[in-house]
Amino acid sequence: MVETRYIFVTGGVTSSLGKGIIASSLAKLLQSRGYSVTIQKLDPYINVDPGTLNPYEHGECYVTEDGAETDLDLGHYERFLNIPTSQANNVTTGKIYQAVISKERRGDYQGKTVQIIPHITDEIKRRIKILGSRGKCDIVITEIGGTVGDIESLPYIETVRQLKWELGAKALVIHLTLVPYLSASGELKTKPTQHSVKQLLENGVQPDVLVLRTEHHIDENIRAKVALFTNVSIDAVVQSIDVPSIYEVPLKMMEEKLDLTVLRKLDLPVRESADLELWKQFLFRLKNPEFSVDIALVGKYVELHDSYKSICEALIHAGAANNSKVNVKWIHSESINATTVEKKLRNVDGILVAPGFGHRGIKGKILAARFARENNIPYFGICLGMQVAVIEFARNILGLEDADSTEINPGTPHPVIDLMEQQKEVTDFGGTMRLGSYDCRLISRKSKVFGAYNKLSITERHRHRFEFNNAYLSRFESAGMKAVGINPDTDLVEIMEIPAHKWFVGVQFHPEYRSTVLNPHPLFVNFIKNALL
Ligand code: GLN
Repeated sequence: MVETRYIFVTGGVTSSLGKGIIASSLAKLLQSRGYSVTIQKLDPYINVDPGTLNPYEHGECYVTEDGAETDLDLGHYERFLNIPTSQANNVTTGKIYQAVISKERRGDYQGKTVQIIPHITDEIKRRIKILGSRGKCDIVITEIGGTVGDIESLPYIETVRQLKWELGAKALVIHLTLVPYLSASGELKTKPTQHSVKQLLENGVQPDVLVLRTEHHIDENIRAKVALFTNVSIDAVVQSIDVPSIYEVPLKMMEEKLDLTVLRKLDLPVRESADLELWKQFLFRLKNPEFSVDIALVGKYVELHDSYKSICEALIHAGAANNSKVNVKWIHSESINATTVEKKLRNVDGILVAPGFGHRGIKGKILAARFARENNIPYFGICLGMQVAVIEFARNILGLEDADSTEINPGTPHPVIDLMEQQKEVTDFGGTMRLGSYDCRLISRKSKVFGAYNKLSITERHRHRFEFNNAYLSRFESAGMKAVGINPDTDLVEIMEIPAHKWFVGVQFHPEYRSTVLNPHPLFVNFIKNALL
């Protein structure tokens, strides 16, 4: 165990440069050298968490084991590091202010004026250090959301300044910027990077490492120029060139010796050579697929792929596990109706109906489930995708014409999906769903899902308010749709399956959150395997 080191990752010039991927890649390299690493995201918005945000605003909401609704970058952290994150790994300005204001109301500040410095910055520091102080972690990487210069990021940058001063060589700042290529003059331009570093310096923070996002190779001359203007040593100016897959970035960062530079600057020994063998094997399978499979992803935010980030990544992991490329056909659920369904879905090898909320696009999802069932096409329904499969089965097989979820039609005579008992008193939206990990018992060794997991007791993460209505269970089972996974404590149905179908599985939980590069999720792997048959 070493004394905990703190690495801060800031961004400049534009958003969406991939700070999360750089943080994850560096963490992966440090982990492969035997260090225990965790990554944390500080988000500058006022929402307490992204759970109440529309996916158009913020992409997917990622759920941790302990039930935190978090930024999608935490998904990258888990997929790269193969270790779970927790509540403490995502902090928002909303959380910080909420904590400080409740302390103030309790009288903890004993009559003092409560201010951004030191009270807000102290609370931010506490949240950063908590991850190191548990003694579990050698290195804490903290990614600061937003772009340097944003008004809302200022308290975070100020906290970084204070911590760098306090921790000295035990803290380090990596600044990620963009070096644009001007095709008219055929040049890479460093001015935005110079300005961005100046902005950081104005806030009292000297970056130790610069990572330059670029579409073209950055040569020694450009590195030297950037180094000169920014007080960063030339070997700590590294390029991050565009690559086809995010999973190649750790190897690119290794070529740039980012891990070695960081260890040297943090005064930590380079104690083992990086062991990335399994990672490289995954990449090889990813880049040299033998097969190819077309999967329809039916959802209502398909124009915004970030809304289904974890599902897309889980499909990539499962594809590689099956030596197959997975071509995702994005299908907007509102574009599916009785006349289009056949044309849109007839040529795919598998259909995945995505999670979601509210009634928009629900008809198309129900039609997609029906098409999969009737045409023996592998079907994977996740959360709402499971619920629509249940509604479809009730209407078309059980003959319950107006069967529905009470989320969609509160007055339905056949509420086959209904609000969970514990949800009936809930009035607030934020953080009030059934969230996080729950146990599930698989009922039969003969089920498709047992074939995938190969064990009877599983744990999966949740994010929902509605559930299968057990009053209808016997009717479903006699007609051929079985509950094959049950929560052992509450009897909530977690998995529905049609045994007579090639592969028809609906899950109330979100398996996508648990798929990682080194542990592709068994249900996704099995779904792709069956889509390939
Ligand atoms: N809207 C449904 C529910 O709350 C499904 C949620 C989801 O797909 N995550 O139960």
